[in-house]
Amino acid sequence: MADKANKQPENVPGKWYVDNTCVPCNSCMDEAPNLLKYSADETHVYFTKQPATPEEAATAQRALDICPTGSIGNDGE
Ligand code: SF4
Repeated sequence: MADKANKQPENVPGKWYVDNTCVPCNSCMDEAPNLLKYSADETHVYFTKQPATPEEAATAQRALDICPTGSIGNDGE
């Protein structure tokens, strides 16, 4: 389970985030490329945009579900 106390600093504020356990493996980018982006040094990904529609929330949820390291959370603020 992702840890909201250890969010990647680039995440836009809001419910959804990537924490500091991201590998990165790229799996979530296939699910939600409109919401996630690689960091400049390519060591992790982060949310560039919070889901704004039910469809985007569903893509974020699929990214959370597929993440092998449990690095995506939806209990942020
Ligand atoms: S699926 Fe998880 S570990 Fe892989 S890039 Fe996305 S957040 Fe990082």
